[in-house]
Amino acid sequence: MILAIIDYERCQPKKCSLECIKYCPGVRMGEKTIELDEKTGKPIISEVLCSGCGICVKKCPFKAISIIGLPEELGEDKIVHSYGQNRFKLFGLVVPRDGVVGIIGQNAIGKSTVLRILAGELIPNLGREDNVSYDEVIKHFRGTELQSYFELLKNKKIKPIHKVQYVDILPKVVKGKVGELLKKVDEKGKFNEVVKKLELENILDRELSQLSGGELQRVAIAAAYLRNGDIYFFDEPSSWLDIKQRFNMAKLVRELNRVIVVEHDLIVLDYLSDYIHIMYGVPSAYGIVSLPKSVRIGINEYLLGELKEENIRFRKEPIIFEKRAVIDYKNRPILLKYSSVKKTLDTFKLYVEGGTIYKGEVIGILGSNGIGKTTFIKILAGVIKPDEGEVIKDKDIKVSYKPQYITPDFDGTVEELLSSVTNIHSSYYKSEILTPLQLEKLLDREVKKLSGGELQRVAIALCLSREADIYLLDEPSAFLDVEQRLAVSKVIRRIADEKEAGVFVVDHDILFQDYISDRFIVFSGIPGVEGTGSSPLNKREGANRFLKEMGITFRRDPETGRPRANKEGSQKDILQKEKGEYYYE
Ligand code: ADP
Ligand code: SF4
Ligand code: SF4
Repeated sequence: MILAIIDYERCQPKKCSLECIKYCPGVRMGEKTIELDEKTGKPIISEVLCSGCGICVKKCPFKAISIIGLPEELGEDKIVHSYGQNRFKLFGLVVPRDGVVGIIGQNAIGKSTVLRILAGELIPNLGREDNVSYDEVIKHFRGTELQSYFELLKNKKIKPIHKVQYVDILPKVVKGKVGELLKKVDEKGKFNEVVKKLELENILDRELSQLSGGELQRVAIAAAYLRNGDIYFFDEPSSWLDIKQRFNMAKLVRELNRVIVVEHDLIVLDYLSDYIHIMYGVPSAYGIVSLPKSVRIGINEYLLGELKEENIRFRKEPIIFEKRAVIDYKNRPILLKYSSVKKTLDTFKLYVEGGTIYKGEVIGILGSNGIGKTTFIKILAGVIKPDEGEVIKDKDIKVSYKPQYITPDFDGTVEELLSSVTNIHSSYYKSEILTPLQLEKLLDREVKKLSGGELQRVAIALCLSREADIYLLDEPSAFLDVEQRLAVSKVIRRIADEKEAGVFVVDHDILFQDYISDRFIVFSGIPGVEGTGSSPLNKREGANRFLKEMGITFRRDPETGRPRANKEGSQKDILQKEKGEYYYE
């Protein structure tokens, strides 16, 4: 079966010469392989007539078409949902069961679609154009566990609760104060307990519209938890949360009985889930749901790119989080040295132990938000003068900074934005930045119209394209899928090596931090009140100190070497805490 996918946002028949139609060999032979749709004025490709030659893909000036040959076993009868002709198709579904089921996969592979179907928000159309009823869906899944699930949905005998992915739109649809809103949905009588566990005490009197991303996320999680549902769906619950909040969220979600969760932070997903479904395919074209796997095997198979039971390789290259060689600092040129520094800004007090930063180092900063990380970097750069202490450097230090919250205030295209700081047409830039960050297809897009993940990749590119001695990236992994996180970490490492810069990365994805960093600086304290930063510590010491503060222990998976969080109270957890070994090399 051939899938012809048209990105109708890219397709602009008024600005092209209809090259797709003009050059299609089928059309030239008088067939209706591609036609303009009367209603939309845009082309439709007949997947029955299309030979898959790929000429239209090359000829379309807006790169709007993809032609994909599907594996033979994926016939039309296997489609669970299609967003329409020449649009995304979903194959297979997750089967709800007791415990926490995790879904892992690239962006735009259909994860949210699966959640919407199982939450009863979208009746799957089985690939048909007309409206499909639940009765037909039930018939389609006859003899499987999904038959009875859809029967329950149809008869409203099951109450699904859905924490959506984009919590930032909540203030547009719900108005009111946090405390009042949460009390209204508290069907379990656990308001006080949840408020405490998710650290919501200080924001109960605030309007939803005044909350930051992380606050909104916790309120949305609390609201879902407090309701009495038969099944719960959590779409990317760790976005905007710091590490401690991620684990608090995970512990809370694990208290629920039937949960399906989509998550890109693999350590959190691992900690949360009992089973894993991998979703694979071609983003924005089609997605397939794998069989359920145990959590360890599922995450390992995802990283390795191979489904053993199904005998399918879905990615050529495995994702390997290599152990970084420990650097012999003595041989490295010094970027700067600093004594211990103190700084008071209004009511916020910062203290950082002294240290030395070497050229080409990537320093991972571990710690909550609002705890003084950015202030510290500004002190290093000389933008802020410390009250006590000094920074010793042999020249002016320039800093390039990617903030945590990126607001797209640029009027113009991605190409114009990146070109304002560098020559984006060099072959170096293409191979080092544009290709790995998948930016080529975004170049002609308006910056203001990018999605969260797209904007993130552009912001990272912009930050790394500026000439600087120190690069500070605040939460580069937010909104990125696992593959994109790996690509970003490679780009950052290469820039550090080649520019001999110092790179500081604040991020709450420990797997990402473990992969990218040479050393760690650990920040602790009370957000907004006081922060203390350690000197740069070797990874073992830094991670140990940080995890001890969090009360979480880690082991390494023998097969892939990836860090895994021990479940609280497990034998390993207890033993490692006794020994003070929170982090295993
Ligand atoms: P994920 O959750 O894995 O990121 P989604 O399920 O949101 O993926 O989307 C899968 C694909 O379906 C994407 O290409 C998306 O653009 C497309 N899609 C999602 N919703 C719609 C819709 N209502 N109409 C058309 N296409 C859609
Ligand atoms: Fe033009 Fe490309 Fe759209 Fe065809 S697919 S109408 S060539 S923009
Ligand atoms: Fe026509 Fe070839 Fe494009 Fe199919 S792939 S629509 S046959 S040009």
